[in-house]
Amino acid sequence: MRVFVTGAAGFIGSHLTEELLAAGHQVTGLDDLSTGRLGNLRAVAGHPSFRLVEGSILDAATVMELTAGADWVFHLAAAVGAFVIRDRTLDSLRTNIRGTENVVEAAYRHGARLLVASTSEIYGKNTKVGLREDDDRVIGSPLKSRWSYSAAKAIDESLVEAYVRELGLSGVIVRFFNTVGPRQTGRYGMVIPRFVRQGLAGQPLTVFGTGRQVRCFCHVHDVVPALTRLIASDRASGLAVNLGSTEQVTIEGLAGRVIAATGSGAGIERTSYLEAYGSGYEDMQRRVPDCTLAGDLVGFRATRSLDEILQAVIEDQLAGRTAAAAAS
Ligand code: UDP
Repeated sequence: MRVFVTGAAGFIGSHLTEELLAAGHQVTGLDDLSTGRLGNLRAVAGHPSFRLVEGSILDAATVMELTAGADWVFHLAAAVGAFVIRDRTLDSLRTNIRGTENVVEAAYRHGARLLVASTSEIYGKNTKVGLREDDDRVIGSPLKSRWSYSAAKAIDESLVEAYVRELGLSGVIVRFFNTVGPRQTGRYGMVIPRFVRQGLAGQPLTVFGTGRQVRCFCHVHDVVPALTRLIASDRASGLAVNLGSTEQVTIEGLAGRVIAATGSGAGIERTSYLEAYGSGYEDMQRRVPDCTLAGDLVGFRATRSLDEILQAVIEDQLAGRTAAAAAS
């Protein structure tokens, strides 16, 4: 297959690109390197079936050109991370709304199958254990940056659904629930790479809020194989599909596990949401997916435990330090 991946230099995009190339596909990636990094693609740089174009999904002409001839389009480029959304809300809205519209339109024009990355933020403050795809969204004011992100992603989903139903596009939406693993950076807020970096540096782990908020973390290697199966599935077209783990952990509990795994002696430092994110921030108290649909459609099941995830992230960060030390 000829495949176009937006956000190919990002965390999930780079893992997907590697897997596509290993399966013998031809891949063109597009990335503006805002949060993505060339280093993420080190393993495939120079691969004869891979080409990376540095550019933005806001450039409709480039998106149209790169989509021409593609069989599959994976749209993973987006503004993500709590700090990015807070600090660059307007850019984030433009990228996540206009950029996605460019990609959806191009896939439709060129008759490519499309997968669009969405997020568990869609469900907002709904704390139901086992969120299903048709559950209600419980979100706060769109004037708060967190909900502006949720709203933008919801528009993306509605757009895909309408293109599928009214225009015959083949498109599926994937809602990622706290995907983590090697290469994810903590710079934009994601908790596991931040805790691991703090733990390895012997710094206190910054627990925001009460620490009793619950998340389920899913290894990127569990998620990525499901993406190619979903884009190829006729039954999945027009649907939104949860992808995540159901192993629950509180953020306080996670901090304890990272401290034990890294051998850090520095403990925990509690930080209020106000200090961490600025005013007007609201957090989700619990977010647990029901992934029955992904199981039915493509046999998805998260198999890697949180302990395995933490080990993988620790090894990745230690390898990064060794490489940085060798280069300096
Ligand atoms: N969090 C934290 N310390 C950090 C970074 C994040 O306690 O240094 C918390 C954050 O407030 C949230 C949870 O960890 O409750 C997960 O945050 P992340 O940004 O990774 O994902 P999301 O909020 O989208 O689930």
